[in-house]
Amino acid sequence: MPVSESLARNCYHPADKAHITLRPVLSDEQIALLEKICPAGLFRRDAAGKVNVHFQGCLECGSCRLVAGDTALAEWHHPPSGTGLTLRFG
Ligand code: SF4
Repeated sequence: MPVSESLARNCYHPADKAHITLRPVLSDEQIALLEKICPAGLFRRDAAGKVNVHFQGCLECGSCRLVAGDTALAEWHHPPSGTGLTLRFG
C-alpha cells in the first residue's frame, strides 16, 4: 500500500490552534531538513517561498522536534485532548 494511501486511512480531528509553530526566520538548510524529515510532508513552502506547517495532518511522531529542535520550532506539543490523530489498525 502506498504511504499516501496508508496516511489517508488515519482519522484526524484537528485542533483550532496549531500545536507546532515555526521560528520567524529559518535557514534554507533548516527548511530543507524539515521538508525531508516529516513522514507526512507537512512542511511546505507557499508561492512566496515561506515555509508553513500543515499541522492538521500531523502524525505526532516528533521527528521534526528531534531533528530541528527549538532552533527551528518555536512550539511543539501534542494537540489538546480529543484532537489530533487517531490511528486505525488492521
Ligand atoms: S511530528 Fe512528525 S508528522 Fe508531525 S509535523 Fe513533525 S515530523 Fe511531521
